[in-house]
Amino acid sequence: MAQDLMRGFMFNDMDIRGVHISLNESVQALLKKHDYPVAVSSILSQLFIASALLSANLKLQGRLSVQVRGDGPLEYAMAECRVEQPGTLEPLSLKGLARHAEQVDDNLDLHALVGKGQLVITIEPDEGQRYQGIVALDRETLAECLEGYFYQSEQLPTHLQLEMGDEQAAGFMVQRLPAGVSDEAQADEDWELVHALVATLTSQELLELPAEQVLHRLFHEYDVQAFAQRPVRYQCDCSRERSAHAIVALGQAEVDDVLEELDRLIIDCQFCNTQYTFDKVDCHMLFNPNSSTSSGQGTLH
Ligand SMILES: [Zn+2]
Repeated sequence: MAQDLMRGFMFNDMDIRGVHISLNESVQALLKKHDYPVAVSSILSQLFIASALLSANLKLQGRLSVQVRGDGPLEYAMAECRVEQPGTLEPLSLKGLARHAEQVDDNLDLHALVGKGQLVITIEPDEGQRYQGIVALDRETLAECLEGYFYQSEQLPTHLQLEMGDEQAAGFMVQRLPAGVSDEAQADEDWELVHALVATLTSQELLELPAEQVLHRLFHEYDVQAFAQRPVRYQCDCSRERSAHAIVALGQAEVDDVLEELDRLIIDCQFCNTQYTFDKVDCHMLFNPNSSTSSGQGTLH
């Protein structure tokens, strides 16, 4: 089985760069956590691919999420990519989640699914300012809406393709950069040419061919430099420690109320369905970290 990989590339004599991504196990892991309707799986997978494609250009360590929300049967869907050590080959970690109405027809398109909706892109560096961009979901496909986002927010003409097969998912993005090696007129011409070439890439080719073959098929007449492949994986970043923080944030009064009724507090990770259980002793320790408990029986694990 093919690995889950992302490969960036650039043209040496044109102000254009791109990214190819091919996913298999990670997208399967995402979809098997929940029993999503077909149409919801499709949009969620596209968001999943998109979050990785958009993260390819991140210069900061942190997370990038792509979110769709609206008033249709798909209430909410999001995918998030966590980038450790940008510029290295450290794996990218992806996760995602969707909320939807009970009944969702299989063949709904983006607009029937989301209704009147928005696409929200959030970049959260570990250190520094959070950034959020919002565009209306007013084009036919998610890929076209993302192209609109790049044009609106960064004035970067972008071509994006997101494909979901039976098991495989794949994405492809090329982006025009501000003029550097060419003058404006030449850059316009280069972009038109590359754009016309990438428009010939079929969904089957993108799903089935490895990155090198896609690049060769499209750009063998051009001077293209491909970078090393970066692994991509499904990984939720929930933990017992983060759940403990969430309990402390609730406040002792509220936690005591719950414990009175239920004897224990269970934190569910909505992404991966992992459950973290905290009994009375655990909670007591959280709010009184320096005290020893009278029972002495509690464990934090
Ligand atoms: Zn989780």
